Amino acid sequence: MEKERKLIIAGNWKMNKTGAEGAELAGQIKLDLGDLTEVDVVLCPPFTALDAVAKAIEESTLRLGAQDMSPSDYGAHTGEICSGMLREFGVRHVILGHSERRQYQEENDALINQKTKTALAAALKPIVCVGELLEQREAGETEAVVGKQLAGSLEGLSTEQMYETVIAYEPVWAIGTGLTATPDQAQEVHAFIRGQLAQQHDETIAKRIRIQYGGSVKPDNARELMSQPDVDGALVGGASLDAHNFVGIIKNTLN
Ligand code: PEP
Repeated sequence: MEKERKLIIAGNWKMNKTGAEGAELAGQIKLDLGDLTEVDVVLCPPFTALDAVAKAIEESTLRLGAQDMSPSDYGAHTGEICSGMLREFGVRHVILGHSERRQYQEENDALINQKTKTALAAALKPIVCVGELLEQREAGETEAVVGKQLAGSLEGLSTEQMYETVIAYEPVWAIGTGLTATPDQAQEVHAFIRGQLAQQHDETIAKRIRIQYGGSVKPDNARELMSQPDVDGALVGGASLDAHNFVGIIKNTLN
């Protein structure tokens, strides 16, 4: 599949896998993918498995990601993990503003914006998540909601910082539910996001930035979703916990 932008597929393991289990899963993914370079592949284990997974993917093209981080640097923030701690394990990407954090930890766009800036200052590449709830979609509010999340989360980023950022469009009603946005529904919102980026930033940024789709991506729907012109990869939850499924998603996007 020839695309203008290189696909980026990330596995969000959420609160699953111990260090030993994570190393086993990552080792299997590494083995099954071989030296794949056509797609950027990122594994995002929980903090406690970062060290083990980092070791398991040494000498491979796989990249390490985290699922969240503090907006602050070192200091008196009990229970938090900062960018420097992630860098110590070779983390290169960090998921920010996942809908589960927006919902259960009440994260808002201002906080996500702070985290995004802190990540970029530490040379981590943020994967900034946006997406509407089912009732918002049904009320015809998808574009208003996603547009506001984008503007708030990315406010004040420089052009160079925008180039380092990935957007993940994840309709909340499709996360972990088995419901997937149709390729047309996904393309429609991805095109809207790219248009917003052109308006809120500029045309070159909009053309270069990668926008992932997330929400019940599986081997059998990956190809069609990822062949949409504005879909540049996937953020995968449930299916990333199984090497066969995760590698299947990646391989199904290749020619
Ligand atoms: C996610 O949590 O980012 C996600 C997309 O989950 P799932 O693939 O399980 O829907």
